[in-house]
Amino acid sequence: MASARTAALVAGLLAAAVNAAFAAEVAAPPGGLVRWPGGDPERCGSEGRSWQPIDGVCWYAIDLLEQAQTLEVWRQVGGGRETAVVRVADYPYPVQHITITDDSKVNLSEADGARAAREAKRVGALWAHDGPRRFRLPLAPPLDDLPAGGRFGSRRFFNEQPRSPHSGADFAADSGEPVRAAAEATVVLAADLFFSGRSVFLHHGDGLITMYFHLSQLAVAEGDEVTRGQKIGEVGATGRATGPHLHFGIRWRGARVDPALLLGDPGVIPALR
Ligand SMILES: [Zn+2]
Repeated sequence: MASARTAALVAGLLAAAVNAAFAAEVAAPPGGLVRWPGGDPERCGSEGRSWQPIDGVCWYAIDLLEQAQTLEVWRQVGGGRETAVVRVADYPYPVQHITITDDSKVNLSEADGARAAREAKRVGALWAHDGPRRFRLPLAPPLDDLPAGGRFGSRRFFNEQPRSPHSGADFAADSGEPVRAAAEATVVLAADLFFSGRSVFLHHGDGLITMYFHLSQLAVAEGDEVTRGQKIGEVGATGRATGPHLHFGIRWRGARVDPALLLGDPGVIPALR
């Protein structure tokens, strides 16, 4: 009897140890990314959506507006499923106060409000794009000389009124500087929009959308195919902008992520083991 109980206890401990070996956990901020390298996975997924690994690594994107909580992610390895936990950290970004001289871009008229709402709906439909991946990491810089910059995630006040947090990175640049595609893509939207001015939205496959705002000129039209580094427009200050700069934004499978993470060394992204 005693030995049977001991055997059961040992079996239980072994099962717990095996589970613990797969109970990976990592922390990342909202707007961050997590990698899961090693093990040669066949498929990656979370919350009912699944996708292909990139060069043997599963990538998970955490939306800027994700609450501080734990998210379960999984990958398929050798026909079996491994799960892991991503702990979404507290919101780490500072507050930014911006003064816009054209107050009609902050306190909208009824007509402008209706226009902005229509455009938001049109843009929101883009996040559902999917298909085979056409990009590699890191992405190509959108400017020939990419300065330091960003203010990604800043909680923003325009003319002292709270507005949405900054979901892209702002790069100082001169008007007319060429703006380039971060990777091969289809132009899914190229239009003059109320807030973002002349704007280009590119889909690079795998639900990765890059955005280029406030352009003075567009060099592409909706439906065009572009190559990595191809000129798609010129830097400007159209829409709600304080001066010439490039706003570069990324949505990956719907999640707003810090563009710096996809433009820099992928090796510094927090990893599950
Ligand atoms: Zn911006």
